[in-house]
Amino acid sequence: MRIVVLAGGIGGARFLRGLKAASPDSDITVIGNTGDDIHLFGLKVCPDLDTVMYTLGGGIHEEQGWGRADETFTVKEELAAYGVGPEWFGLGDRDFATHIVRTQMIAAGYPLSAVTEALCARWKPGVRLLPMTDDRVETHVLIDDPEAGAPAEGGEATGGGAAGRGGRRAVHFQEYWVRHRAAMPAHAVVPVGAEQAKPAPGVLDAIAEADLVLFPPSNPVVSIGTILAVPGIREAIADAGVPVVGLSPVIGGAPVRGMADKVLAAVGVESTAAAVAQHYGSGLLDGWLVDTADADAVEAVEAAGIRCRAVPLLMTDAESTAAMAREALALAGEVQA
Ligand code: GDP
Ligand code: CA
Repeated sequence: MRIVVLAGGIGGARFLRGLKAASPDSDITVIGNTGDDIHLFGLKVCPDLDTVMYTLGGGIHEEQGWGRADETFTVKEELAAYGVGPEWFGLGDRDFATHIVRTQMIAAGYPLSAVTEALCARWKPGVRLLPMTDDRVETHVLIDDPEAGAPAEGGEATGGGAAGRGGRRAVHFQEYWVRHRAAMPAHAVVPVGAEQAKPAPGVLDAIAEADLVLFPPSNPVVSIGTILAVPGIREAIADAGVPVVGLSPVIGGAPVRGMADKVLAAVGVESTAAAVAQHYGSGLLDGWLVDTADADAVEAVEAAGIRCRAVPLLMTDAESTAAMAREALALAGEVQA
């Protein structure tokens, strides 16, 4: 079976591990989010691609869910001693090597897709990992300017930030997520560059040749939403004529991990399993899995034209994660019938 999975970082990577266990003979192509990519210290960092690569390749820091196991932070400390930041982004020594290799290859003219393939030659993730695009896409988040004071105070001219307008400022997604821990509301989420981006080589072919497309419990806005914002990808999935099944990252009205509710609010979507399914919509999704805690959402999702089942959706260990993947495959079989 040929399966295409759109993936962000932790949620996507952990689910993929379960999918590989549930369907070891399948040929899995992962289309990874690159909207989170950021240049730091002159290096190109691709957090979501690396989380998938390290998780499936056995190099991940298991408890943390991102970064390398057995990591040290000497380079970061030395940079800080020079006063060179940002200090809020955790790049470890082992991880640095990945970014150095990537940046060097890109400087030599290789597209990100070729670089990712080269990095995967070491990690052997057991899937074909493709960036959604070789072009630069950067997710920005519009926030109230933290340096401009609260707009509610009024009267006082805020001045300040170069991009500031009406006391609002666009920041890189990582600055919002990692530096500010999504502590303030997001007014908008913009995948800058997406409109001009082309799907990376292999992406559209993989979708056209797929027997099944899965949306793991990745962030619907800044992971899967960003991938779908690359022109051609959403259309290819909708037109593929194969089952498209997703798993809810929201359980009991809140994201299982992280702050997805903040970016869902920015696009006007409630943090419920049913609302996320409706956000994708029946034009894209054929099936949707919600957690057993959200069994009462099944009816609303089915009323929206999406087949829905309530099953345990916590990826607590390898077995529970594989069971989720088996449920997704079973639901795909059902919607196809
Ligand atoms: P990121 O790029 O590292 O943020 O990772 P993803 O976008 O791939 O996944 C993030 C999402 O995974 C979050 O919104 C979480 O709610 C969701 N998530 C994490 N662990 C679990 C889990 O055990 N079960 C479910 N259903 N969702 C999870
Ligand atoms: Ca991410």
